[in-house]
Amino acid sequence: MRVGREIRVRGQVQGVGFRPFVYQLALRFNATGHVLNDGEGVLIRISCEDPDAFVRALRAEAPSLAKIDRIDVAKAESLPTAEFEIAMSGEAGAETRVTPDAATCAECVAEIQGAGRRAEYAFTNCTNCGPRFTILRQLPYDRAQTSMAPFQMCAACRKEYEDPLDRRFHAQPIACPYCGPTLSMVPAAPDAMADAVQRLCDGQILAIKGLGGFHLACDATNADAVAELRARKRRPSKPLAVMASLDWIKAHTVSSAEEEAFLTDPAAPIVILSGETGLPDGIAPGLDAVGWMLPYTPLHHLLLASVQRPLVMTSGNLSGEPQVIGNDEAQEKLGHIADATLLHNRDIARRLDDSVMRVGPSGPMVLRRARGQVPGTLDLPPGFDGMKDVVAFGAHLKSAICLTKNGQALLSHHLGDLDDPLTWEEFLKADADYAALFDHDPAAVACDLHPDYRSTAHAKSRGLPVVEVQHHHAHLAACLAENAWPRDGGKVAGIILDGLGLGTDGTVWGGELLLGDYAGFERRAHLRAAPLPGGDAAGREPWRNLMARLDQAGLANLSDRTLKGKPLDPLRQAVAKGVNAPLSSSAGRLFDAVAAMLDICRDRQSFEGEAAMRLESLARMASPDEANKAYDLRVDGSVIDPAPLWECIERDLLGGQSKAAISLRFHAGLARAFSQKALHLLGSGDAQAVALSGGCFQNGLLLEQVLRALGDVPVLIHTQVPANDGGLALGQALVALSQMETN
Ligand code: ZN
Ligand code: ZN
Ligand code: FE
Repeated sequence: MRVGREIRVRGQVQGVGFRPFVYQLALRFNATGHVLNDGEGVLIRISCEDPDAFVRALRAEAPSLAKIDRIDVAKAESLPTAEFEIAMSGEAGAETRVTPDAATCAECVAEIQGAGRRAEYAFTNCTNCGPRFTILRQLPYDRAQTSMAPFQMCAACRKEYEDPLDRRFHAQPIACPYCGPTLSMVPAAPDAMADAVQRLCDGQILAIKGLGGFHLACDATNADAVAELRARKRRPSKPLAVMASLDWIKAHTVSSAEEEAFLTDPAAPIVILSGETGLPDGIAPGLDAVGWMLPYTPLHHLLLASVQRPLVMTSGNLSGEPQVIGNDEAQEKLGHIADATLLHNRDIARRLDDSVMRVGPSGPMVLRRARGQVPGTLDLPPGFDGMKDVVAFGAHLKSAICLTKNGQALLSHHLGDLDDPLTWEEFLKADADYAALFDHDPAAVACDLHPDYRSTAHAKSRGLPVVEVQHHHAHLAACLAENAWPRDGGKVAGIILDGLGLGTDGTVWGGELLLGDYAGFERRAHLRAAPLPGGDAAGREPWRNLMARLDQAGLANLSDRTLKGKPLDPLRQAVAKGVNAPLSSSAGRLFDAVAAMLDICRDRQSFEGEAAMRLESLARMASPDEANKAYDLRVDGSVIDPAPLWECIERDLLGGQSKAAISLRFHAGLARAFSQKALHLLGSGDAQAVALSGGCFQNGLLLEQVLRALGDVPVLIHTQVPANDGGLALGQALVALSQMETN
C-alpha cells in the first residue's frame, strides 16, 4: 500500500545536488510527489510503499557536500501526482544557503584526465565540487549572481544542467571548453598550461590564479627557486605551503589516517605534517613540519600531473597585504616577484585564503579558517535559542567577524592584520558582505575591550548597543561555544595562554587562569606580569623579553652575560621610568624569552609566533621522558612566577643538556603550573570543566602537555574554531548574547 509523507531536511542541503539525489531516490523507490528548496532547506512530499526505507536512504546516501542537521517526517495525504518531479523553489530569495568551495571531485578529475569533451579542461566542476562562495556576488546562489554570469552556457552544458539525472543538474558554475572560462599566460603563450609547466620545471616563479586568490608557485624540490621566491617576496623564514599529490605526500611524510582524511576532505585545507620531507630547508626553516595541501581545482590537478613534483603554493600578496585576486592587480603587485602569470577570465568575487589546520593530540586544530570552511555555520549552544541577532568584530591581528542568527553562529573567514590598509578595506567589505548575504539585522555589536583596535572603533561607530568583551574572556567563551557548553552549564576553569590582550586592570594579559562562563569571569591566577620593553618592539625582538624576565628575577648579571652587545642600560632606564614598557602577563612573550635564552630568534622574529614555533619543533625532538623533568614555576597565591626557570635553563645549558630537552622541560613546567591551578578549581567544585584557549594552544605540544598534566578530567578544547584570535569573535558574540534578554 502506498502511504504519503512530508519530509523536511535541514542543514547544508542546497546547491549540493540534493534535489537530483532525491529525484533519483524517488525513481528507485517508485515514489511519486515532489521535492523543492525553500527558506528552511529541502521539502519532500512523497507517496510510496516504504517511506521509512526512503528516509533511511536519504540519510545514508546523501551527496558528499550535503550536511544534514535534521530530518523531520510527518504523515501526509497520499499524493495524486503520477510522477515525481523537482518543483520550482518557493518565493524569490527562498534559497538561503550557500556552501563552501569544494575541491574537485573524483569524477571530475577522471573527466579532465580522460578523453571526453572536458579532457584537460581547467574549469570542470559539478554539483559535488567546484567554486561556490568564491564566485558568489550575492544571494540567492544561482549563476546570474556569480562571476560565471558572463559565460553563456552552450547547448551541451545546458542539457546537463537541466537533466535531473545528470551530475551537473543545476550546477551553477557548469562549464566546458566551448562555453566556459579559459586560461591565459602573461607574457602571452600559445599553450598557457604547457608554458606554465615548462617554466616551473625550469625553476621559475609563477603567479597562478586559484580559487580564492593568486598563489606564488615554484618547484618545491628546487632549493634555488625556493630561495629566489623568498628573496623576491621578502619573506625570510615564514613557512611556505606545498601542494602535492596524495601519493607524493604519503611517500615523503608520515601521515596518519586522520591527517589523510583532512587532506582529502572537500575543504582541502593546508594540513601541517611533521617528519622528514627531503625538501629544501628553505620551505620551513627551523621547523619540523611542513604545510601540505592537495590540488583542489582542475587547474592544480593538470599542473601537478605535468610537473610531476610538489609545488610551493604560497599566498600571492605583498608582505602584510591581503592576497591578490584581480588580474590587473596581479600584474601590478606580483609582476616583480613572478617571472610569468598563469591566469584566467573567471573573476574571483570573494577573497579567501587557504585554510590551515593540523591534527593535534586530541583531534583537529584549526589554525586559519578560510576557503572550504566558510560560510559554514555552528549551532549555538543550548540556552541561546530565540535570541536577537548580534555581530562581533573580533580582535586586531588575526581578525574575523561573527554573526549570530536563528540559533546559529557564522564565523567569517580569516581577514588578517587590520593595521594594513587593504586588510582594513577587506574587513569593512566583509562586514557589509556577510550582513547582506545573511540578511542580518543585529540588535547589538560586540568587540574587544582594547580601545585602539580598529575593530573596536568600527563597532562603536555602528550606532547600536556595544558590548565590550575582555580579550581572554572572549577566548574562554569561544571554547565553550564550540563545545556546545550549555548557557546554564556552570563555570569552567579557563587556561588561556595567549599573546596580548587588554585586561580589566589596564595591564596587558595573556597567561591567565579564568573562572567563568559566557556571562562573566574572575581572574583566578596569572603569570607574573613583566614589562614589555619597547612596547611593540618586544613582540618582534625576543631578547627584550628575556632581559625583562631575567632582571625581574634578580638575574641582571645573567642578562648582561647572555645579551652582551644589546643596549640594555637605556632600555632598563626606560623600564624603570615606565616609558613604553607596559606590564604584561603574556604567555606568548614568555615563550619568546625562553627562545631568546636558547639563542633561538634572539635578535628578532620575522613573523608572529616564529620563536614559539621553533621552540615547539625543538621540543618534539627531545625524548618524551624529558617531560618528567619539568621546570618548576613559583606559585605564590594567584601569581605564577617564571623566575626559577632561568637558573635551571642556565644550569642545563652549562651541563650540556640539549636545547630540545630544555624546551620540552619548559613546556611541561608551564603546563603543570597552570594545570595544577585549574585542578584546584575543579576539586573545590567551583569549576565543572577545564577549557583551553588562546594563541599558544596552536602549539600541539603544549596542548599535549596540558592534557597530560590535567589527567582524567573534563577538558574542552578547540577543534573547529581557531584557538588564536581568529576564533575570538565567536566568543565575543556569545558573551554579548548572554547579556541580552531572551527575545
Ligand atoms: Zn565534480
Ligand atoms: Zn559548455
Ligand atoms: Fe588572543
